[in-house]
Amino acid sequence: MVENTESESRKLLGRLREAMAGDVAGQARLDKITQLIADSMGTEVCSIYLFRDEETLELCATEGLNRESVHQTRMRIGEGLVGRVARTGKLINAADAPSARGFRYMPETGEERYTSFLGIPIQRLGEVLGVLVVQSKETRDYSSDAVYALEVVAMVIAEMTELGAFVGEGSAMSPLHQQSVLLKGTMAQEGAAEGHIWLHEPRVVVTNPIADDPHRELERLQEAVEELRVGVDKMLQVSSGGDKEQAQVLETYRMFANSKGWMRRMEEDIARGLSAEAAVEKEQSLARGRMAQVQDAYLRERLSDLDDLSNRLLRILTGQGRDTGAELPDDPILVARNIGPAELLEYGRKLKGIILEEGSVGSHAAIVARALAIPLVVRVGRITTEGLNGDHVLVDGDQGAVHLRPDDPVVNAFRDKIAMQAQAQERYTSIREKPAITTDGKRVKLMMNAGLMADLPSLQNSGAEGVGLFRTELQFLIHNKMPKRSELATLYQKVLESARGKRVVFRTLDIGSDKVLPYMKPTDEPNPALGWRAIRVGLDKPGVMRMQLQALIRAANGGPLSVMFPFVAQFEEYRQARKEVDKTIEREKRLGHVLPSSLEIGAMLETPSLGFAPLKFFEEVDFLSIGGNDLKQFFFAADRENERVRQRYDTLNVSFLSFIERIVERCDMSGTPLSFCGEDAGRPIEAVCLAAMGIRTLSMRPASIGPVKSLLMRVDLGEVRKLIADARHRGDQSVRPSVMQYLREI
Ligand code: PEP
Ligand code: MG
Repeated sequence: MVENTESESRKLLGRLREAMAGDVAGQARLDKITQLIADSMGTEVCSIYLFRDEETLELCATEGLNRESVHQTRMRIGEGLVGRVARTGKLINAADAPSARGFRYMPETGEERYTSFLGIPIQRLGEVLGVLVVQSKETRDYSSDAVYALEVVAMVIAEMTELGAFVGEGSAMSPLHQQSVLLKGTMAQEGAAEGHIWLHEPRVVVTNPIADDPHRELERLQEAVEELRVGVDKMLQVSSGGDKEQAQVLETYRMFANSKGWMRRMEEDIARGLSAEAAVEKEQSLARGRMAQVQDAYLRERLSDLDDLSNRLLRILTGQGRDTGAELPDDPILVARNIGPAELLEYGRKLKGIILEEGSVGSHAAIVARALAIPLVVRVGRITTEGLNGDHVLVDGDQGAVHLRPDDPVVNAFRDKIAMQAQAQERYTSIREKPAITTDGKRVKLMMNAGLMADLPSLQNSGAEGVGLFRTELQFLIHNKMPKRSELATLYQKVLESARGKRVVFRTLDIGSDKVLPYMKPTDEPNPALGWRAIRVGLDKPGVMRMQLQALIRAANGGPLSVMFPFVAQFEEYRQARKEVDKTIEREKRLGHVLPSSLEIGAMLETPSLGFAPLKFFEEVDFLSIGGNDLKQFFFAADRENERVRQRYDTLNVSFLSFIERIVERCDMSGTPLSFCGEDAGRPIEAVCLAAMGIRTLSMRPASIGPVKSLLMRVDLGEVRKLIADARHRGDQSVRPSVMQYLREI
């Protein structure tokens, strides 16, 4: 049986290779392929449909159907049997097609005469590029051998489509990867950027899908797999004794690299006429297909390990490595499936924009992108397969959209938008040194959020009056082992030095929930956002907290020091944390270190419970900062990471603003300094409403300081406060409409 299959597919592939070697190109090449397949398979019809755009398939070549319908007949994805194959990526083998579910014939093609239908997806690495169809008049059940042979041919066609083999004179096809496409994703960092794609992992191109000599191909595969195994073993040795988790991942790699099933399937593919690299890619395609369907996170991870391994194997076989010799363009837009924070930092500010196929708004990469103020769009499906190195691309971080290979009108409109933003930025520069004073004379202090050394130049450029939130966990997240006390002390000292006397509020390590340290054993919690995180970890395992406090005290070097604890939910937690500070101070004194000239210990108000803490708490704490991102998610019971519910509740909801007002009142009563450091502080309308509720210090991304200040300087907070009171009185859900109306009129 296998013999038979081998010979059938090999014969077909052999003829295909000959056809390809000739100097026919473009449309003629496609025509020749359909003739050849129909002839070899003994079918009356063979047709190739390729995607014209995301939604539309076009008949691009046919043997047997009406010639005039080529490049005329089009169908939407999902329409008829061909459309269904394209939508599902699964073949349809129908002996009696007209009675099959969803059958629909295209009268202009004359296909109503044909009974049997076999449609195979033309796909490459899980991406469906089109459909290959054979049809016969007789009722015919295509054998599994025939199906296999066609699958292999479809894969070769996919490779050739990718390589632009059908583009040329008379093809009437705009080559794949040259059309403009609009891809939608999720905004993770605002801003607009224009540039050229830099693929983080350049894809390997298989130029020889059909084998000349199966024996030689088998040898090549075996040699490459051996090299891969040796490589993985080496990695294991290097990592042994080190990180346990990393070793586990590598163990899984080793398991795959030695997997007999994986190897056997690839060997069979070669026996059937594929080259070694095409066999690897075929397996990789299958794994990707499975990956798209698997929900289980663990299994997905394993499949993605296999994907990674296939990539390594392809690089060995083709000699195409990461280092392709290509140079980073002047205006690089990074495209990756996913990227770690450390790798992203390595690129640093060179990047104009970032597009991720996966990722999430709260991922570490997003945190770093935000810190570097680089526009970022995540969850952009197909970007790593659609985009090629060097492609022109526009990243719209405000809308969560990506314009790949855009047409001129889109480029012009986009450039206008960038120019307008630049103009606004210039306006902000002119007020940079001015204080934010509203028309009714209220002074609002504007500070910035930071987390990396890379943030600090913004302290001077943005006009920030200090750092209202320094997220210390970023230093822990970007390394693959726990940073040392001395390293932290040096870093914190640099931060304080660059602040040149301006206040910097260091927040102690806020890990857990979305922020998982790569070198800490992950805890399996049903609701991590409500779980063991931030100060809870700090108090239960005080070693790291003490080390960090020591580093901070040493960094202050006799100057003032402000520290705050994240996610305090009750008074007692603050008291305990404060005790740790006192003990650390004592220890440092004993060790002969110079102590800070002044020490302020604050808490972040991120849980509704703390807003109702005893007044005594408000009196005891040196200052409070509202972490609006977390506070809002708990106030509305809406996960800040969940796209479905994230945007559902408005910050300007009357209930939320009333809660903020209550916190302000309690702080006023106890004389506790209060600030707000969630993302909302950087949104001008939200900032105005928070200020109207009585908050006098806002801490935000540096880029937001200009827009927020510019608006604050134009408003009368007393009037806004009155609007909010009226809205509450009327029973409005949100104050946004009335505040927007007011802002339009000033
Ligand atoms: C917040 O929750 O608002 C906050 C500032 O902290 P983070 O976003 O780091 O959780
Ligand atoms: Mg928080």
